[in-house]
Amino acid sequence: MTPFKKVLVANRGEIAIRIFRACTELGIRTVAVYSEEDQISLHRFKADESYLIGKGKGPIEAYLDIEGLLEVAHRHDVDAIHPGYGFLAENAEFAQRCQEEGIAFIGPSPEHIKRFGDKVDAREMAIHAGIPVIPGTPKPIERLQEASRFVEEHGYPIIIKASSGGGGRGMRIVRCDEELQDSLERASSEAKSSFGNTSVYIEKYLENPKHIEVQILADRYGKVVHLFERDCSIQRRHQKVIEVAPSVSLPAQLCQQINDAALQLMKKSEYVNAGTVEFLVTKDQQFYFIEVNPRVQVEHTITEMITGIDIVQSQIRIAEGYALEDPEISIPDQHEINPRGYAIQCRVTTEDPEQNFLPDTGKILAYRSGGGFGIRLDSGSASQGAVVSPHYDSLLVKASAWSMNYEQAAAKILRSLKEFRIRGVKTNIPFLENVIQHPDFLKGTYNTSFIESTPELFE
Ligand code: ADP
Repeated sequence: MTPFKKVLVANRGEIAIRIFRACTELGIRTVAVYSEEDQISLHRFKADESYLIGKGKGPIEAYLDIEGLLEVAHRHDVDAIHPGYGFLAENAEFAQRCQEEGIAFIGPSPEHIKRFGDKVDAREMAIHAGIPVIPGTPKPIERLQEASRFVEEHGYPIIIKASSGGGGRGMRIVRCDEELQDSLERASSEAKSSFGNTSVYIEKYLENPKHIEVQILADRYGKVVHLFERDCSIQRRHQKVIEVAPSVSLPAQLCQQINDAALQLMKKSEYVNAGTVEFLVTKDQQFYFIEVNPRVQVEHTITEMITGIDIVQSQIRIAEGYALEDPEISIPDQHEINPRGYAIQCRVTTEDPEQNFLPDTGKILAYRSGGGFGIRLDSGSASQGAVVSPHYDSLLVKASAWSMNYEQAAAKILRSLKEFRIRGVKTNIPFLENVIQHPDFLKGTYNTSFIESTPELFE
């Protein structure tokens, strides 16, 4: 065991603050890094020490400056780095460079990041572990001919996906031959500009599935547990908007099968640290693997609320070398993890629902949030006087509610959203309120097409 004394968070905003909180509770000193753009961002002031990175490099590039980050880490005696999500979190080279420099990386091994970062490789691992995958091409495709051959066998619709894709980007649905060639070319060039390589593959497109994902924790001694599932079907343009834990409308037996499949994949692949296995579930209750996210996720909060397990602290303890059953993590056995109640998270963003969700920027003139029993707020610089920059993502605050039953959790998150008063920038709060009050949301029967097929949400 090598307990960390000082952890650097190679990230910004709400997730940096979330990780600092976890460290401070564990008695670990915290180091923030910030770009020139982020001189007065709150995450900087929530750490024990903070240092400017990426001078002259630009607001995003600053947080991607691997050698610059390692230099700060060495100069200030940092013994571990947490990457958060986004930026370098799924960059195998960064994890590798940390290892080479003798700095612990709080996450999985570079090899796991690499294999799961490639969706084609990840599918292969799932097949190897005996997990159902959506019919798809076993390799990236380069020619129209290969795509046509897949269509001959499986028919339309199909979805073209970037092998290294993420964040709902680099995906194209194709429904007929006429669209095929153009879509392939566009998907490839989008993959190149977003992810640095042109590699794309094809999957059968499932109509109106649910997105169900399973939170996993694994120590370096081969023990793996799941922390149950989250339903992340409320999406816009393949990006999650509201998440619920555990699933509301799926049969318990199906959920158990999905949780077991996730467990099996992570065991078989000898995964270490926190990770999420994602699935799509069809109306006839078939489930299929889609990908693994080898990092902490935005929506880890709601799993923490239903299990009482601090996922970020667990990540740190696992990276220090503790076993899941050690008192420092305190997860003895799977059957002793009992989810309690329901939790719902809303991603409050500065996107304007009246302007097709165009991100709004500028100074927040007034800011009051909704609180009270059962409400959890995770935010970065959401406060009066703060400036929302156009350079970073538009997430303002994650508002989560927990209650003993789903209806009460929905009532609580709605009440909390209604308490927010934000002036100066537009937010998606009115839209979130419409979703929460919709009968389908209250029944839990929503699927990934819910938002686009429900025009009344936009009224
Ligand atoms: P990303 O890594 O960009 O988040 P994912 O592979 O996790 O991409 O997919 C994101 C979302 O896209 C899914 O939750 C689902 O809504 C949709 N999607 C992905 N693959 C399929 C598919 N084969 N059929 C139907 N929808 C899909």
